[in-house]
Formats: sequence, C-alpha cells, structure tokens
Amino acid sequence: MSDKKPKPPIISAPPRKVCPICGKPSYSAVGVHPQCAQKIAKSTSTRL
Ligand SMILES: [Zn+2]
Repeated sequence: MSDKKPKPPIISAPPRKVCPICGKPSYSAVGVHPQCAQKIAKSTSTRL
C-alpha cells in the first residue's frame, strides 16, 4: 500500500476582526460592534 492520501488543504480560519473598543472579536464586516460604535459616538458627541 504505497498510495498516499493527499493531505487535506489547511483551511486557515477567516481573519477575525477585533473590536478596537472592547477588544473582543467581532464578526461584523466593520469589525466594530454596533453597541461599541454607539459608545464611541456618544463619547465623541459629549461636550468636551
Ligand atoms: Zn466591541
């Protein structure tokens, strides 16, 4: 038995974007959780 089975192609995990706000992986296309984006929007909209 010399037939070698081809190794299955190594499927690398899809690049998981990490939310820059909370630091948790986000599956959204933007990479930022909607709630986190709202936090940023609120924080930036607050009076300085
Ligand atoms: Zn987040």
